[in-house]
Amino acid sequence: MQSGGCLCGQIAYEVKADPLRVIFCHCKFCQKTSGSAYVIEPIFNESDFSLLKGNLSQYEHISGGSGKSVVINFCSQCGTKLFLKPARFPDKLALYAGTFEDPNWFQISPDNTVHVFTSEAMHGTILPPLIKTFEHHFITNEGEAETPTIYEEPTIV
Ligand SMILES: [Zn+2]
Ligand SMILES: [Zn+2]
Repeated sequence: MQSGGCLCGQIAYEVKADPLRVIFCHCKFCQKTSGSAYVIEPIFNESDFSLLKGNLSQYEHISGGSGKSVVINFCSQCGTKLFLKPARFPDKLALYAGTFEDPNWFQISPDNTVHVFTSEAMHGTILPPLIKTFEHHFITNEGEAETPTIYEEPTIV
């Protein structure tokens, strides 16, 4: 079990499995919602996530890319975003990695990690070597796998 929560403590959660994959997302939506360069999103089956306490607030956004809804779940008291629920991938949650008590508990490796939407990344962002990177999503809206770019050395956008 790994626990996390929001800044003010109103919301607490735990997960009971490793993330299915870890997505570093550089898209404009993630820049806007985080106010930062990118978001680290470990992906979990919804069934491996438990809300321990608190009331989540929701904001629904229609993705310009897929046309599907993405629901941001956040604390209305302190504004911390806990996870995204994408209609495109039902039964999956994308947690905001920084909300874990220990954000370093899960592995980040070439086996489980991708960087996506690097075409939208902020200048100065450094992409790591050996990790799959994608200019857009790693699958197309039609569900086809995209071809990754894998850099040999750290690469500055
Ligand atoms: Zn809070
Ligand atoms: Zn994104």
